[in-house]
Amino acid sequence: MTKILVLGGGPGGLVAAHNLAKLLKDKAEITLVDKTGYHLFPPSLLWVMVGQREPEDIMRPLSRLSKHGIKVVEASVEEIDPDNSYVGTSAGRLDYDYLIVALGSAPRPDLMNADETVCSPWTVEGALDCRRKLAGFKKGKIVVGAWDWPYKCPPAPFETAFLLKYVVEQRAGEPEVTVTHFWSEPMEPFGPYMVESFKKFLDMYGVGFRGGFKPAEAKSGRLVAESGEAIEYDLAVFAPPHTPPKAVAESPLADESIWGYMRVDWRTLRSPKYDNVFGVGDIVAPSLGLGMAGIFAHFQAEFVAAQIADEVLGTYMGEHYNMSGVCVMDLGYVGAAVYCDFSGKVKGESKYPDCVILGGMRAFRPLKYAFERYWLEKWFA
Ligand SMILES: Cc1cc2nc3c(=O)[nH]c(=O)nc-3n(C[C@H](O)[C@H](O)[C@H](O)COP(=O)(O)OP(=O)(O)OC[C@H]3O[C@@H](n4cnc5c(N)ncnc54)[C@H](O)[C@@H]3O)c2cc1C
Repeated sequence: MTKILVLGGGPGGLVAAHNLAKLLKDKAEITLVDKTGYHLFPPSLLWVMVGQREPEDIMRPLSRLSKHGIKVVEASVEEIDPDNSYVGTSAGRLDYDYLIVALGSAPRPDLMNADETVCSPWTVEGALDCRRKLAGFKKGKIVVGAWDWPYKCPPAPFETAFLLKYVVEQRAGEPEVTVTHFWSEPMEPFGPYMVESFKKFLDMYGVGFRGGFKPAEAKSGRLVAESGEAIEYDLAVFAPPHTPPKAVAESPLADESIWGYMRVDWRTLRSPKYDNVFGVGDIVAPSLGLGMAGIFAHFQAEFVAAQIADEVLGTYMGEHYNMSGVCVMDLGYVGAAVYCDFSGKVKGESKYPDCVILGGMRAFRPLKYAFERYWLEKWFA
């Protein structure tokens, strides 16, 4: 029996384990390890922030995967030893024939030089903290920004800014909202089309933008950039710095030139050093030059599951690696979807992904609701 070990129960690990169970049935023993024991749907964290969702609405117990024949272990991954094909966890040693690393990227608000005037909806606790700070907020300056690169979901600080403006205006409030970013233009790495499109959204909804702004400190209502430039605020909401999980950063899978994230071959998503080790999702996003997005984790997981099934069964499963992604945003007044095809960028053939913005109309808000329901039903019904 082939032993397949999947590390992480986010979209990457979830889809990989699910597809492998479907493709391999009783030909493999599939074990998924996650330290929390639940799956989280992070795009809805912004709705937790504005009170449209409670944390339990967007979480599901991973134990439900056992009915698909997946063994779920709630434990912390502490060591990855690909030379000896085992993983050390808080629940003991787990050996494997194939390993899929889907441990994501950890949001680290503790790495911001900031006090309690700043909140960060990139985690459940952070989203609830922002909700408390937002309660009763009717008038004043809101700064929304990104602290450092890389962070999950590159357009999310913009989505956050629009959503906050909308919520406060629905209270007949008068928010003055500004996005600060270390990029000199909004969505700069996504190319001129995206820059212009986001500038139009900012203009249309009266949200300011300060580019080239790398935060050094946010304390007592004053945000100071490394350049010395300062902005006063009443509420500051930030995408925090992110780091790879320690177990990966300290393993032979890590690459220092990409901040300790995992290196993979873009054609196969295998480790270049270990043929039986694959990586999917945020943990390999820097290696591929992609933004961190669940949709990439999803498609990569399908591709990797098909490759393993192909090797185990000796058949070709026909999954190709879809390098495109869609991010649906709730901007409050309207919804919009950003679609980008990254294949040229990943292959080194173009500087920017090929992007298009869909929507910018109310009808796109229900699309985001629908996707959330579909996702949580599909895997956990
Ligand atoms: C506010 C916000 C909005 C977003 N919006 C979108 C969007 O609209 N569209 C989109 O595509 N993406 C969006 N994303 C990004 C998306 O959520 C991530 O890119 C996606 O979750 C990455 O999936 P993953 O499986 O690689 O990692 P993760 O989802 O981070 O999962 C990793 C798992 O590994 C576990 N883990 C970590 N370390 C250990 C350890 N040492 N031991 C055991 N378990 C461990 C964690 O508990 C976690 O369950 C958003 C993210 C945020 C924060």
